[in-house]
Amino acid sequence: MKNYIKHDPWCIIEEGFAAEYNEITESLTSLGNGRMGQRGNFEEKFSGKTLLGNYVAGVFYPDKTRVGWWKNGYPRYFAKVLNACNWIGIDIDIEGETLDLATCEVSEYTRVLNMKEGILERKFVATLASGKQVRVHAQRFCSIVDDEAGAICYAITPLNFDAKITLVPSLNGDISNKDSNYGEKFWDEIRKETSFGEAYLEMRTKDTPFKTELFNVCTGMKVDLKIDGKKVDFQSLPIKEEKYVGCRIVVDAKANEEITLYKYAVNLASLNHSVEELLSNAKVYTQRIFKKGFEQMKAEQIQAWAERWAQNDIIIEGDDAAQQGIRFNIFQLEQTYTGEDDRLNIGPKGFTGEKYGGSTYWDTEAYCLPFYLATADQKVARNLLVYRYKHLQKAIENAQMLGFKDGAALYPMVTMTGEECHNEWEITFEEIHRNGAIAYAIYDYIRHTDDEAYLGEYGLEVLIAIARFWAQRVNWSSDKQKYVMLGVTGPNEYENNVNNNWYTNYLAAWCLRFTLESIAKVELQNPAALAAIYERVGFDAAAETAKWSQVVEYMYYPYDAERQVFLQQDGFLDKELLTVKDIAAQRPINQRWSWDRILRSCFIKQADVLQGLYFFEDEFDIDTIRRNFDFYEPMTVHESSLSPCVHVILAAMLGYNEKAYEMYLRTSRLDLDDYNNDTEDGLHITSMAGTWMSVIKGFAGMRIKNGKLSFTPFLPTQWQGYSFRITFKKQVVRIAVRRGEVEVENLSNEPLEILINDHVLRVEAYQSQAV
Ligand code: BGC
Repeated sequence: MKNYIKHDPWCIIEEGFAAEYNEITESLTSLGNGRMGQRGNFEEKFSGKTLLGNYVAGVFYPDKTRVGWWKNGYPRYFAKVLNACNWIGIDIDIEGETLDLATCEVSEYTRVLNMKEGILERKFVATLASGKQVRVHAQRFCSIVDDEAGAICYAITPLNFDAKITLVPSLNGDISNKDSNYGEKFWDEIRKETSFGEAYLEMRTKDTPFKTELFNVCTGMKVDLKIDGKKVDFQSLPIKEEKYVGCRIVVDAKANEEITLYKYAVNLASLNHSVEELLSNAKVYTQRIFKKGFEQMKAEQIQAWAERWAQNDIIIEGDDAAQQGIRFNIFQLEQTYTGEDDRLNIGPKGFTGEKYGGSTYWDTEAYCLPFYLATADQKVARNLLVYRYKHLQKAIENAQMLGFKDGAALYPMVTMTGEECHNEWEITFEEIHRNGAIAYAIYDYIRHTDDEAYLGEYGLEVLIAIARFWAQRVNWSSDKQKYVMLGVTGPNEYENNVNNNWYTNYLAAWCLRFTLESIAKVELQNPAALAAIYERVGFDAAAETAKWSQVVEYMYYPYDAERQVFLQQDGFLDKELLTVKDIAAQRPINQRWSWDRILRSCFIKQADVLQGLYFFEDEFDIDTIRRNFDFYEPMTVHESSLSPCVHVILAAMLGYNEKAYEMYLRTSRLDLDDYNNDTEDGLHITSMAGTWMSVIKGFAGMRIKNGKLSFTPFLPTQWQGYSFRITFKKQVVRIAVRRGEVEVENLSNEPLEILINDHVLRVEAYQSQAV
């Protein structure tokens, strides 16, 4: 755990250059706007520890897989989010000396990510080997108003000399992915152009044997110069090299005169523009933002962020570390996904690193959806569901490749296009529980929005295909006289190829039930839509639904009658039942133990049975939940960032408030304090939604009960109060929790009926009431 980031309610502050932690700080100070994202790299050259990262949403490359022993059915490729053209570069040369913070003396250094405004700022004084000193003040942002653009204001002041300073703003397309399987580069140059203070570079992803879409990205820049705040004429010499364009600007610098370079950049992808128009559109876009100018773009950015915060901020009183933690999580989620484009999704690292390939995982449905449901317009969550609807055909093909038939769908565990693109056996073939999370998301969306029409439009088709999969994936055990499910991996990836994972069996049966209920609903509300779906999917209603009901009735659930707990899988009790306390010095076990030892141990990577109890809390009594929590929590090592939040929610429900708070701190400051020693690879974006859930569903106890919003809040002793807004069925409510009091403010024009500690409270439109 590290503790070098200063606690502050709105800013992520590095004070004094922590060179050894630079890659961590680069992750923490990442910027994004849903269309592009940029790690907190330096503009000027840096020869120290760094992970360059600039990503364009939806642009990926299918890298050749690397497996020891090929097995039939393996996915063809391992998709990577592509590290793209570096648009931020501004090299500085002072009479033959390069400004490079790794080689000069650095003082008065700060790097600050202002989350309130969405702006990254860096200030320092550098003393070069010659003794020349410069002061630098750099600001930049990825605009959330012009979401294919970024802007930089880079001010440099010579402090103790007059000399020629050369500034080289550039676009560098010679970029590779650190995680490339065979050290290959994935970009080809298509064209480049330069003119006065302006340059364009169009790159295209390399051809691939896998026949996936190729992407063109055109990056453009235009620069401007001021000295001591005044526009000046300047000379700009074009530079054109392989995969590189730039301008050389030489300034006769005088001591204490501030030279400010403005760099306006765009990243246009063929995902959103026709290839023929890419360059011309990039020019028009660049001209447009150049005309707006930095100050106006910045003012618009601040305004747009203020509007977002007004909607989704969580205010925590009396605890800056917790406040910073939750805002950091919300800020990064907002930077990653805006919901405007149903082709995009939320990668576990967002735009902050390469790991996990930037692909879509079950994380989206199981963890991220609730955040967007409650904080954004309904269409944002809907787009996340439609994303999977659009991949349905691929999911059916995926199941076919594995031997399933008749329209059964197995969604990929990891995907960019709907095709499975991860090549670990246990993950791709065995973690089939992801199918259930996709069905659960449809359920969650409808109960939160009342948008039942979604079922007839898209949802039911997905549910039928998923239900067909489960009905084929189980088999009848004549020994048990039950349906069983063999050879799976549950959410706990520290167990592989297990039989009857309780979570997966329960989820499968629930999916079948939910599909049957959904059919009945659509039959009632929109029989024509139902008939059209039946026709489209070739549904034999009588036979298929009869089989599903049978599976629901006879599904097998491993259970220990003595302890009265559900068993994570068959044979779980054969393990040596230790607790995490017994191995305190050996954690994290994934970095210290052999895989074989991990698999044999009882230790649980992330919530598994408890994930099921969290999803289906209403179907169990509190004593059952308590017994299972008491049994599994002491064995859980939380070595997935997705784990602690589920434990917070259950612990809070059970009244284990201290436990809930302890787990909360772990999730909310996971990256800020680098708990797992891996923030340098990028941020844990999807688990950030889990942190949000920890406060809202955990501490505030948000649930939906009989169609009403319900809260059972508790206030951690460390806090004086907290408040937040929730959008629910088109109404917006603000909840403020203070010691001994809960205030409900109805921010919509209809009366609101809400449950607070299980009592109905009616709050008139635009009124607030405290209880
Ligand atoms: C977790 C998975 C998760 C993946 C991506 C893994 O460590 O075990 O549940 O989907 O990370 O976040």
